[in-house]
Amino acid sequence: MDELAKRTMAALTRNGFKASFFETAEEAKRALIDSIDAHETVAMGGSMTIKEMGIKEALALKGIELLAHIDAASFEERVEILRKAAVTDVYLSSINALTADGMLLNTDGLGNRVASGIFGHRRVCYIAGVNKIVRNLQEALIRIKNVAAPLNAKRLNKHTPCAVTGKCENCNAGERLCRATVILERPLTGVGSAEIAVFLVNERLGY
Ligand code: SF4
Repeated sequence: MDELAKRTMAALTRNGFKASFFETAEEAKRALIDSIDAHETVAMGGSMTIKEMGIKEALALKGIELLAHIDAASFEERVEILRKAAVTDVYLSSINALTADGMLLNTDGLGNRVASGIFGHRRVCYIAGVNKIVRNLQEALIRIKNVAAPLNAKRLNKHTPCAVTGKCENCNAGERLCRATVILERPLTGVGSAEIAVFLVNERLGY
């Protein structure tokens, strides 16, 4: 683990997140699957990291269906899955950036992922590669607008300037991805608040 990852892990723990470090995505996947009971309901936000890790298939071996709106066959099914996914026991998501002083940031166009980070679940599990670590809040916002969003816009064939130029132009496009940003400084507290777990992997995962 390099110095920045060490600092980040210590800060996340200090801030009340349940942070674990893994050398490989495979090890992280095993720990994640082991942490989920067969009776729990599970959903995921749109995430290339989770999709590529084969988590859906691993959960299926335990008899658990992973609710994933990105796999829906129709608009109606997509809406139905999104509604159900808002209140599952466990929510799986990747993250756009995590700071060395222990904050988690996600930016969303639809809002499902940022909403789920705040309320609705017993447990939220963020899976992130070390490439998502930045030094501070300012760098996190720069990363989101100039790395994560442009690459996502390109992957999703969105008609935004960043999909073409690779950098943010603070657009007003109808398909603008950056509409809501949640900064988790600490896990939420009070009745119904979720435990927030971070599975940090010593690999490059997603963007
Ligand atoms: S605001 Fe628009 S141009 Fe900037 S990163 Fe988001 S989608 Fe791209």
